[in-house]
Amino acid sequence: MALPKFMLIPPQPLDRYRALLGDEEFVEIERIAARARHEFSGHAIWHVSSTARGGGVAELLHSLLPYVRGAGIDTRWVVLRDGSDFFRITKRLHNRLHGSAGDGGALGVDERRDYEATLAVNGAHLARLIQPGDVVYLHDPQSAGLVPMLKELGVKVIWRCHVGIDEPNALAREAWDFLRPYVEAADACVFSRRKYVWEGLDEERVWLMAPCIDAFCPKNQDLEPAAVAAILAVAGLEESLADGTAPVYVRGDGSPGRVDRRAELLQEAPLPADARVVAQVSRWDRLKDPIGLLRCFERHLVDPRVHLVMAAPSAHAVADDPEGEAVYGSLARGWRDLPEDKRRRVHLASLPMNDLDENAAMVNALQRRADVIVQKSIAEGFGLTVAEGMWKGKAVVGSRVGGIQDQIVDGESGVLVDDPHDLGAFGDAIRGLIEDPARAARLGEAARQRVIDRFLGINRLAEYVELVASLMAPAQTMASRKAPTA
Ligand code: UDP
Repeated sequence: MALPKFMLIPPQPLDRYRALLGDEEFVEIERIAARARHEFSGHAIWHVSSTARGGGVAELLHSLLPYVRGAGIDTRWVVLRDGSDFFRITKRLHNRLHGSAGDGGALGVDERRDYEATLAVNGAHLARLIQPGDVVYLHDPQSAGLVPMLKELGVKVIWRCHVGIDEPNALAREAWDFLRPYVEAADACVFSRRKYVWEGLDEERVWLMAPCIDAFCPKNQDLEPAAVAAILAVAGLEESLADGTAPVYVRGDGSPGRVDRRAELLQEAPLPADARVVAQVSRWDRLKDPIGLLRCFERHLVDPRVHLVMAAPSAHAVADDPEGEAVYGSLARGWRDLPEDKRRRVHLASLPMNDLDENAAMVNALQRRADVIVQKSIAEGFGLTVAEGMWKGKAVVGSRVGGIQDQIVDGESGVLVDDPHDLGAFGDAIRGLIEDPARAARLGEAARQRVIDRFLGINRLAEYVELVASLMAPAQTMASRKAPTA
């Protein structure tokens, strides 16, 4: 098995956010950064995740850690290496934490042995690097099993659970029972929402933090409409325009970037210039319900101008998601079976992941091109794609599940559909926005402001510093700890 992989974290200046936040709020951010530089000096904060790309956790770390570094805090990011059955087992845990059976396999003694064996190898490598006094921040079920090993090194350990379920069922509890022996040993457990906190965990060690996005990264930076069109043309989703605009954006490191690759596409033809576009951007995952969205479109969106684009990272590129190819396979069959007039209006795009900035620029362009963004998840930890759409001033239609409910205020900053399986209700919500662009624009404007107020990486910096500080010097800081919100 290869060594865990070190991720580069190019520091980003906090100052970028000054204009967006306003001077008064920004002064407070600078004060927090100065405190952290002082209190954490000489110690590193290690983040451990299972993939560097494709999916919300990777996205969140890419959005937050460059600013933590920009604040002068020594933060590092390591990506675990897979052992034989490791990701199959952790995907099972992931599905069950969402209350879903997934592949239906067991979580017994054999699975625990395989899970621990992979983490033992990863942990042994990490043990050589981590110093006493450091803090380790583990993400999701994939890394939870490292907690006891790391505690033996005498370091403080945070475990962050990015997934959860509003009403836990037996499947979710089965995953909790598998993970509990590890998680209980952590110094702090972080959840995205109050409802996701597991029964029986020590409340004193529980923290709540909403995920966030970065306003300036290639995924979310402003793009001119001509650049949007040019990027989608290179990706193959739109006809090339003759105006010669280059498909350019600014890379994460500030250098000029250009989109050169084509997406793998299942479509009869590119989007017509006058198409009204409904888009869902998600991994090819059953819980995102791409097949339900296809059916919703087939039955309830009959307007010939309306096109549906579903885009995801190319299935074989997301290392910790072994089910992607099968989900894409059934979706592709569903697409082929559509009547010709419907098929012509549905576009499936697997976006290349060779260059993550380029991939992000394609997602950005598609979200900006969309008239309506949909997140038809059956279950959702947070749903960063919702915040990404809202930041771009789009009306988002989402299921009233998980973290989507924290982001969209129904009728104010988007539309929530109560039952994620109700295809007719999704159809009505989407059609309503397509037919009333003024309302869509109003919701989109409120959505953007809501993201500025609550879901930007810079909004999380204070909580991050507070959490780490509480572990480095518990006696002084626990008393002043902010009560978790939400
Ligand atoms: N994403 C991406 N490239 C793609 C498709 C999706 O970077 O080709 C991103 C998407 O923009 C979002 C993340 O993957 O930032 C998905 O996060 P979310 O919280 O919506 O769902 P998760 O994958 O964690 O279940």
